[in-house]
Parts: sequence; C-alpha cells; structure tokens
Amino acid sequence: MIHFVGAGSGGADLITVRGARLLGQADCIIYAGSLVNPDVLQYQKEGCAVYDSAGMTLEDVIALMAENEKAGKDTVRLHTGDPSLYGAIREQMDELDRLGLSYDVTPGVSSFCGAAAALRAEYTLPEVSQSVIITRMAGRTPVPEGEELRKMASHGCTMVLFLSTGLLEDVERELLAGGAYTADTPAAIVYKATWPDEKVFRCTVGTLAQTARDNHITKTALITIGNFLGNDYERSKLYDPGFTHGYREASR
Ligand code: SAH
Repeated sequence: MIHFVGAGSGGADLITVRGARLLGQADCIIYAGSLVNPDVLQYQKEGCAVYDSAGMTLEDVIALMAENEKAGKDTVRLHTGDPSLYGAIREQMDELDRLGLSYDVTPGVSSFCGAAAALRAEYTLPEVSQSVIITRMAGRTPVPEGEELRKMASHGCTMVLFLSTGLLEDVERELLAGGAYTADTPAAIVYKATWPDEKVFRCTVGTLAQTARDNHITKTALITIGNFLGNDYERSKLYDPGFTHGYREASR
C-alpha cells in the first residue's frame, strides 16, 4: 500500500496521529527534503529505507513506489503541509491509477494554518473579510488567465501567497494594481511557520519587498495580506448574547 501523508507545516509534533502511525509502519519513506522538517522522520521504524525526493523525478518516485509494491512493502510519500496545496500529488496519483496501484491520502496542517497560528490571527473576521484567497505570484510556473494576482487583489479580502517570496517587488505592484489594497494595508511575512526558527515580520503592502530584503528572507515564507492583520472588526454573532441560534437562546 502507498500512503500520501501531509507532514504538517514544520514542528514534528504537528503531523496527525494517523500520519505518525503510517510513518511508523512504513518500510520506505519518500519525503520532500527541501521543505519537510527532517525531525518528522523520527517516527520511522528501524530498518526503514528513506529517500529524499528533492533529487528525484516523478518517474523515479513512481518507479520506487512500484518496486516497493511488488515486494509487498509499505510506502509513505511524505509531503510538506497538506498535500492538496502545491503538492504535485495529482500527477503521482494518476500514474499509480494507470499502474493499478492503490493508495490513500492523509491530510496535514498546511503552512497557511501554521502562519495564522504564528501571527495569532484569524483570517476571517466579521465585517473585515469572510474569504481567504490562496494563490501565488506567476513566476517560472505561470498562473492561468483570470487568476492574475492583480485580479485576485481586486477583492481586498484576506490573501495568502505561497511560493512568491522571491518576487516581492512584482507582488507589491500587482497588489496595488488590484485597487482594493493600499500601500498601508497591513501585511506579514511568515518565515518557517511552526519550525523552531519561525520568524514573523509585520509590515504593509508597500514595504513587503523591503522587509524581506532587510531580513534576508528569500524562501520558505508565506505572505499574508489584509485588514485581518489590523485591529478593527465586529464581534461574532455566534457568541453575541443578543443573538439566538440553533444551540442557544438570546439572553438579552
Ligand atoms: N503543501 C504545502 C505547500 C507547498 S508549496 C502546504 O500546505 O503548506 C511550498 C511553499 O509553501 C513555500 O515556498 C512557502 O511559500 C510555503 N511554505 C511551506 N512551509 C512553510 C512554512 N513552514 N512557513 C512558511 N511558508 C511555508
């Protein structure tokens, strides 16, 4: 059996209980060494073969999985955060389907959740933003038409940018071109969220590039943008004493 497992955003104890159990049973672990915290490998059993996929192609990974299956071995394919975001998991699953090999998927704590925790923030504040856009700046990987950052930025809602830390001049320009954020809109760079060396830099849309430069941040960071980082919001209706809902009568 092949198990795709989300390793979580960094801290080794952020993997799910199921993920850790699967790691403990695996005969072979293929992990994304560029981003998965190697501390997560502590859950492996003795004699487990461990491969870093950083130097492997899709074909190499699939060939190794197929070989393990033939030998009746359990494989864990360990992805950073949650595999559903920028995980290149679909192409692996399609290849396994083609070969008739079965697999399952165990989710993980995505880095965008880790970043919110690092910021002690809530992405969806009443009257501020009720939507989160997860996207990236077009770089070597293009984004489809209609998903240009400036279009995404026209909503002014909470935004989390993956894979964009090296392109912050372009990011600033595109965010402002969207027309909903200003140079003063709060923003934050979260470096290595939930890792032991996590760092948080609060800044504004207009100072994103400068902040990254000043602090030598070039990768393994998320950019968060929006007024959820500010101090104005409305209390939630759910916990408002004057609001009745299915589980509670208003008390005043
Ligand atoms: N599947 C992963 C994302 C993989 S894409 C997830 O759910 O988090 C890799 C990008 O994710 C990095 O370039 C960076 O932008 C972001 N990233 C991954 N881990 C991170 C972390 N701990 N802190 C901040 N950003 C992180």
